[in-house]
Amino acid sequence: MKEIIRIAVQKSGRLSEDSLSLIKECGIKFYNGTGKLKSTAFNFPIEFLFLRDDDIPGYVADGVADLGIVGENELVEKDKQVETIKKLGFSKCRLSLAIPKGEEYPGISYFEGKNIATSYPNILNTYLKSRKVNASIHEISGSVEIAPSIGLAEGICDIVSSGSTLMMNGLKEVEEIFRSEAVLIGNPGMEEVKKSIVEKLLFRMNAVQQGKGNKYILLNAPNDSLEKIISLIPGMRSPTVLPLAEKGWSSVHSVLSEEQFWENIEELRQAGAEGILVIPIEKMVL
Ligand code: ATP
Ligand code: MG
Repeated sequence: MKEIIRIAVQKSGRLSEDSLSLIKECGIKFYNGTGKLKSTAFNFPIEFLFLRDDDIPGYVADGVADLGIVGENELVEKDKQVETIKKLGFSKCRLSLAIPKGEEYPGISYFEGKNIATSYPNILNTYLKSRKVNASIHEISGSVEIAPSIGLAEGICDIVSSGSTLMMNGLKEVEEIFRSEAVLIGNPGMEEVKKSIVEKLLFRMNAVQQGKGNKYILLNAPNDSLEKIISLIPGMRSPTVLPLAEKGWSSVHSVLSEEQFWENIEELRQAGAEGILVIPIEKMVL
């Protein structure tokens, strides 16, 4: 039988869309009709399991799946034996403590002897211990934000990204306790054949990530300022310089990160660069 790897991804939720687009950008084609729990790629030896994110670390630890894409919050909370292979840069969020808006907050001692509702008892427990606070943790699996208004707890510990859900429920964020993003995790005991397929997948993921972080830049420059301009946009090895039809001018092509572009744009223009085009890069192999 031909060797194949299995990856567990979230069936539907805040991780699923970005997880599947990353895989598609790696050139991997598969069918994911609604309601399907398993699918095999047409052009890469990989099979998908579509699961609830809570179950992903466990499936990977048990070897039912070789790889998984999950938020660091779930990963740390579940505390399973898996290897973190790569940070993926999406589904960024934080776990925070929040209390009713009208309450005064003197510092972490506020929570001493209080009840805190959360879906992340382990992360919260570790945090409270490190801050030497005794509080009771009430584990609930969803709609944590309503706990204070129904008298279940005085505070909550939950995922925040913009803070609008907290605000809608009359709460304010008082402590950030954990930062999270999506990660690729793997079973630590994978066989060599599988590892080599994972390497191929990682090569593609890296090319996609590098491409996303960089831009292709084209600009026109008078020949006497080429040296200065080349020093500002050194590119991968060095920029391409092509003569324009107009004498004394060149077109300079290079690659740089979006940040570098914004940092250097003023200097580039001062050096005489004009007609500057910035183009997205789909894949990049260093
Ligand atoms: P499931 O049904 O699979 O258990 P869920 O309801 O537990 O889903 P989602 O709300 O889909 O989880 O969130 C999945 C993950 O996405 C979270 O564990 C977290 O890592 C991340 N996440 C959650 N909320 C946000 C947000 N507002 N912005 C960015 N990332 C988020
Ligand atoms: Mg979940």
